[in-house]
Amino acid sequence: MNIWPLKGMAKRVAITRYPDEPETAAGVTPGRPTRSAPDNDGLCPTHALRPDGGDVDLSRCIHCFRCVREATPPAQWESDYEWARLLPDRGALPRAFRRSIHVRVVDSGDCGACLAELIQLECPEYSLHRLGIYVTPSPRDADVLLVVGPVTNAMRGPLAAAYAAMPEPRRVVAAGTCAASGGLFGPTFECNSGVAGSIPVDVVVPGCPPPPLAILQGLLEVMGRAQAPATEVR
Ligand code: SF4
Ligand code: SF4
Repeated sequence: MNIWPLKGMAKRVAITRYPDEPETAAGVTPGRPTRSAPDNDGLCPTHALRPDGGDVDLSRCIHCFRCVREATPPAQWESDYEWARLLPDRGALPRAFRRSIHVRVVDSGDCGACLAELIQLECPEYSLHRLGIYVTPSPRDADVLLVVGPVTNAMRGPLAAAYAAMPEPRRVVAAGTCAASGGLFGPTFECNSGVAGSIPVDVVVPGCPPPPLAILQGLLEVMGRAQAPATEVR
């Protein structure tokens, strides 16, 4: 039995209604830049700002805020949280998986913050189990591989082995800027440029780290469940 909702009620913790309703609680997302002026001064530490301006490469952004604080004109900052994207050539799991999935989490060299956000999903505020999403220690029981970190050389083999052990149909969610592109760490002599360099990726959730609801949206994307409309939060 899932005890988290009961614990939440006992402590008077409100459980989010996402994805049935947008979450508007304060602090649910750090926000991220959208459009920007050209990065003529080499301001962006991860080259997420394009030299010609325009859209920010969100798969590289680490939310350092320099393009708002130091750029002229400042970048626009958006306070949404639905950051997950199903890659165009990949499909959601078959309809039978809409009610429940098992997820195997693999830390492929993350700094700890992506995992910390991920763990929040099992707290009463988010209560992952209410949506039929369960974490399993075995890839043989998993429908979804949720990977954080840039994939260090040491983790390349274990990650491929975990993917190979999963039954079909299987899906992969790459959560965090490191998992999406290598972030601050890769590509280097010791790191990949994200999960896609090792195994096929279905959903990317950028963010450094992505907030819990962005990760949750990524899992709902692979389940093929409708996502809530994007919303501004306080
Ligand atoms: S917030 Fe930082 S990492 Fe992201 S685009 Fe702006 S300068 Fe680059
Ligand atoms: S994306 Fe950011 S928070 Fe996540 S592992 Fe990389 S550096 Fe850490």
